[in-house]
Amino acid sequence: MPEGQKGGNLTDQLRGSAILVALRTGLLKKCPIHGEVYDPGQHDYQGAFMVASYLINQGDPLVAPFKDDRSQLTDLLKSICKSHAASCPQCSRPPNGHGGEASQPEPVRAS
Ligand SMILES: [Zn+2]
Repeated sequence: MPEGQKGGNLTDQLRGSAILVALRTGLLKKCPIHGEVYDPGQHDYQGAFMVASYLINQGDPLVAPFKDDRSQLTDLLKSICKSHAASCPQCSRPPNGHGGEASQPEPVRAS
């Protein structure tokens, strides 16, 4: 086990890993503009659990923190979906403009 994760407890690792699985399976989405993770409300748990199970079977490094405990992964997938907003919190935030004229369009493309 690599050192250097000071203070990073296992729960954080598991949670981070579960979020990546959720993103891969479509349970969660990431805003392309802000990078915020949100819950689009499409709870295809069956499909997500199949993918999660597959990843564990393959020994995918994505789910390494869970070892072989797929029930812990699926439980976490469910709970993290409940803890995210239904859309990107920054996209849904009303623009903080002063009368509208001051809003300057900024390039949002990263590439
Ligand atoms: Zn956004």
